[in-house]
Amino acid sequence: MSTSLLTQQQQLADLQAADKQHFIHPFTDSKGLAEKGTRVIERAQGVYLWDVMGHKLLDAMAGLWCVNVGYGRQSIVDAVAKQMQQLPFYNSFFQCSHPPAIELAQKIASLAPQHMNNVFFTGSGSESNDTNLRMVRRYWDLKGKPNKKTIISRVNAYHGSTVAGASLGGMSGMHEQGDLPIPGIVHIAQPYWYAESKGLSPDAFGLQAAQALEAKILELGEDNVAAFIAEPFQGAGGVIIPPSTYWPEIKRILAKYDILFILDEVISGFGRTGKWFAAQYFDLQPDLISIAKGMTSGYVPMGGVIVSDKVANVIKQECGEFTHGFTYSGHPVAAAAALENIRIIEQEKLVERVATDTSPYLQSALQQLAEHPLVGEVRGIGLVAAIELVKDKATHQRFDSNMAVGMFCRDACIHHGLVMRSVGDTMIISPPLTISHAEIDALVAMATQALNDTYQYVQAK
Ligand code: PMP
Repeated sequence: MSTSLLTQQQQLADLQAADKQHFIHPFTDSKGLAEKGTRVIERAQGVYLWDVMGHKLLDAMAGLWCVNVGYGRQSIVDAVAKQMQQLPFYNSFFQCSHPPAIELAQKIASLAPQHMNNVFFTGSGSESNDTNLRMVRRYWDLKGKPNKKTIISRVNAYHGSTVAGASLGGMSGMHEQGDLPIPGIVHIAQPYWYAESKGLSPDAFGLQAAQALEAKILELGEDNVAAFIAEPFQGAGGVIIPPSTYWPEIKRILAKYDILFILDEVISGFGRTGKWFAAQYFDLQPDLISIAKGMTSGYVPMGGVIVSDKVANVIKQECGEFTHGFTYSGHPVAAAAALENIRIIEQEKLVERVATDTSPYLQSALQQLAEHPLVGEVRGIGLVAAIELVKDKATHQRFDSNMAVGMFCRDACIHHGLVMRSVGDTMIISPPLTISHAEIDALVAMATQALNDTYQYVQAK
């Protein structure tokens, strides 16, 4: 064994030991992780990651759905360094502001749907949704309708991990821990045709899922409902793209009742669908849009809420303080990173490139996988996609969850040099918007090898 390999192995062992001793990981079974040992990622460039052992991985998840412009962007590093030298921090409370946050708010307003011209800055997607909860209730108070408090969300939605975020989300595993959801948040069915259609056509199922919103508004009483919150497509839930009848029917219902609409674009914002925002892709008119992730491509943390004129006019023009905000709302360094990130997306025409080039290329390449004996469905829009692994293609029957087929496939992907995520037995991808045709070909080839390994595994069982 070479000395350098020995050194690398020692370094990994030391890091894993320290990690095991001192680091509590998010969304992790710590005991299981300690047994396996953590994978230590050391550097990245473009769409690739390298771990401390020097293994190269194609990151088909763009980190956690966030590294839209890819890794290794020197111009973001430079913008951040310059801002740190000039003004590393100042707040935007107490009558103060600073150029990067002002410029960023103006820039985002220019990219957002026309009726949305204000931004409230946060530090993450969870904080954005906490902000939404407080802002919609503040809005209705100022409108003289203080009973309009309840927020309707959906089962298997993901809106973050703070108390309000996890409550707005519809993840049963999260609700089980910590007595969630908090009062005033209810959940309707999700538009997951592949798993829950019970024989209905996609169109009929989409209508039925949307009509659950109207039924819930009528059950609660319109005068008690503040807002409906939804992701345009569910991300962490398994890249669930509603049937084409869903959003038009939701729009019809939202137009009929006086409630606000919060669109959670923490994943879909900043080009993922081939539009700047999925609101534009699905032709939706939200009152509030949650943003984070692709806003800075994850180079530094930042989130926000894009606020419609309808809501901003009330929050900004009525007297009295909106008693909400964070130390890091509009952080100058994060704002500088976001501005440079957006400049790159514009200069390299990444949004247009997704729409006209890489999305069609990726989605048609992935459809080849639909022929695989393990694959029940391949679906996707823009640069997100899901691959459903099933026991029976005709009935959509899944494998016994004890077999952990998705997890096996995820590990097989890593073995072949690909980071793909599993949600149960649904494999999901969301690569950087910069991914090339050759990298897409490599992704599909590695995914095919991992599917073949997984097929051998299930047959052996
Ligand atoms: N909303 C959505 C749709 C998300 O996907 C996420 C994160 N995956 C969040 C909110 C929460 O964002 P954060 O982890 O930055 O708090």
